[in-house]
Amino acid sequence: RVNSNDSDRTIVSSIAGDSTDSEPNRLDSQGSQEGERLVWPRQNSLSLREWDIPYDELSISEPIGNGRFGTVFSGNWHGSVAVKVLNMEYLDDEKTLEAFKSEVGTFRKTRHENLILFMGACMKPPKLALVTSLCKGLTLFTHIHLRKDKFNMNKTTNIAQQITQGMGYLHSRGIIHKDLKSKNIFLENNKVVITDFGLFNVTRLCHGNRKCSGLSIPPGWLCYLSPEIIRSLRSSDNDDLPFNKASDIYAFGTVWYELLCGEWPFKEHPPEAIIWQVGKGIKQSLAHLQASKDTKDILMLCWAFKSSERPDFVQLATTLGKLPKKRLARSPSHPVHLSRSAES
Ligand code: ADP
Ligand code: MG
Repeated sequence: RVNSNDSDRTIVSSIAGDSTDSEPNRLDSQGSQEGERLVWPRQNSLSLREWDIPYDELSISEPIGNGRFGTVFSGNWHGSVAVKVLNMEYLDDEKTLEAFKSEVGTFRKTRHENLILFMGACMKPPKLALVTSLCKGLTLFTHIHLRKDKFNMNKTTNIAQQITQGMGYLHSRGIIHKDLKSKNIFLENNKVVITDFGLFNVTRLCHGNRKCSGLSIPPGWLCYLSPEIIRSLRSSDNDDLPFNKASDIYAFGTVWYELLCGEWPFKEHPPEAIIWQVGKGIKQSLAHLQASKDTKDILMLCWAFKSSERPDFVQLATTLGKLPKKRLARSPSHPVHLSRSAES
């Protein structure tokens, strides 16, 4: 049972807990899946070195923002880049560095137009950083929750389709995102760019996140967590959160809801109420949502209590493709989510 006083700590300790990766089929820096087929262990570690960027080659300008990893800076390295500097004060053990390199190993294997371009990493302690292309657009979070932008149904569907394409690619490479949320999805000239895949473990390595005190739950974070993850937050040992492809699908369902409603599910519910409801299989009501049955069915499928009943991203892409294209009879700026109650 989770009581209100404990809930923050329960969640925070689960983020902070060190653990090994629980994905059986995830690719790592040793190329576990590819490696079995191609037997390239040496080449793999060599090619990892090729992605090493000496920290002093980067020219770092202003901070863009803070996240769970540390600080993201804009910078220059053969053009504009984003530099994610990890907040690791005590990088004294080999294991931590190896874990970081393993995440870098995941990152460098991704090439898809809806995924952020990974350019390299600074892998020499004490300065650990990830270098990616700099996104010029805004995140879906900024569009939806800060600017209160309304997308029409065609654009909403198009954004969702691009997310399913990027995510479908990641899953086909055996990579679990683990932190799919509107803050990690950029929109750049109508193109979706997904960031921060497979970095959840790096987050847990960051010193700042080891401290339980002083960390608050980011608003809207819990609602991306599937029932099986929520339920494992409650147990005493939170080291092995059961992230898998189906938990990414659940998180996608929440993004689809945000796109449709302009809000997070369980808005204004305290964390312990969300944990209790989701853990029991209670879903956000869709009664206020004026959308077609097919549109709502996608939400219900992604949020299925049993992970085995959730679709995969390839199926979702097909389903989204079959949603009727609306001709905009009224004003083009007419909002998708007509219900005032959803916004107030
Ligand atoms: P979060 O995803 O929780 O917002 P991050 O550490 O990932 O935390 O990001 C911190 C800030 O930096 C956010 O405002 C995010 O939008 C911005 N940011 C992260 N990566 C990039 C990028 N590649 N290009 C531009 N801005 C970025
Ligand atoms: Mg992020």
